[in-house]
Amino acid sequence: MNRGITIGRIFGIRINIDWSWLLIFALITWNLSTLFMETHPGWTLAAQWGLALVAAVLFFLSVLAHELAHSLMARAQGIPVLSITLFLFGGVSNIQREPPSPRAEFLITIVGPLTSIVLGGLLILVGSFALPTLSPEALNNPSGLAAQLSPLATILLWLGPVNLVLGVFNLIPGFPLDGGRLLRSLLWAITDNLRQATRWASWVGQGVAWLLIFAGIAMVFGLELPLFGTGLSGLWLVLIGWFLSTAAVQSYRQVVVQDILEDVPVSQLMRRNPPTVPGSVTIATLVHEHLMHSDEHAFPVVEDGRLLGLVTLEDVRKISRDQWETTLVRDVMTPAAALTTLSPPKDASEALQKLQQRDVRQLPVLENGRLAGLLRRRDILKWLQLQGTE
Ligand SMILES: [Zn+2]
Repeated sequence: MNRGITIGRIFGIRINIDWSWLLIFALITWNLSTLFMETHPGWTLAAQWGLALVAAVLFFLSVLAHELAHSLMARAQGIPVLSITLFLFGGVSNIQREPPSPRAEFLITIVGPLTSIVLGGLLILVGSFALPTLSPEALNNPSGLAAQLSPLATILLWLGPVNLVLGVFNLIPGFPLDGGRLLRSLLWAITDNLRQATRWASWVGQGVAWLLIFAGIAMVFGLELPLFGTGLSGLWLVLIGWFLSTAAVQSYRQVVVQDILEDVPVSQLMRRNPPTVPGSVTIATLVHEHLMHSDEHAFPVVEDGRLLGLVTLEDVRKISRDQWETTLVRDVMTPAAALTTLSPPKDASEALQKLQQRDVRQLPVLENGRLAGLLRRRDILKWLQLQGTE
């Protein structure tokens, strides 16, 4: 989720926009401006486009309000939240841990759709006050009715229902959507087993996803569905269904992996006494004496028992062959100060998170400032295979 831009912070939570969000922004602006051209031919072109743009920004703020509700409730339950990312299908709060209890999960989840639905209701209420007194002819002619709406009423009466849809759509019981999370919190409360509850919620999520996909395909082939209609717009349902299905499978896997690694200390999985190299040897020595004679891709650089840095196959690749004899390991390594390190008693699920965040294959493990071992991705993978997760 690192593709995109950070636009600022609210309550210390970083707000990111994924590039795919810009597509939705453009689509909304385009759709609305075309709609305004039909319903309000009297407005200037600048007003039609300007209002469409304002509406798109307000939609953005609506999704943000929904996510902020989740994030602030998570924080109130003692779970740190780093960031919120808005992307093609809405928003996602980067909540750092699974909730500690079914109650916490229920509360963190329910406030999102509640915010959207209450906001939607309020906007419609205010919008209906902003309605003009209508002439009897206008009431008999819906398009004439729309033309009489002021810009303010137009926006409010668009944004209100949109927020209602946002709240209701999220209540679909497809994990990891809000509805799926609510379902999981209930199953969790009943079974007292997070992994079991997640598995069932994930199955329901996949079921719902496939239902959407089949409904979408049926619409493309001409079936008329209540609420959704018919025709090519069914492709949207297929897309959303496919997205939900992938998300359901992935989030289940994530929970299983976290569950398995949670109580395992790093010291149990790491490679102890990994082969090391001194910083003063040349790249040629590193390659011929160390890299080629082991299956390691990375070597801690150690002198007098102190970790100086880490040198990897990728570092060597950046040096052209004719400079191998003259370049020293300490000149190409990542210095210790720039490395993320682990300590032996830390739990392995945290270690995996760090490996993924830094996008590296291994992390050095330090004990009292001295190298105790090396934890590699494949060590974690081996442990997961032993537990038979796949
Ligand atoms: Zn939500």
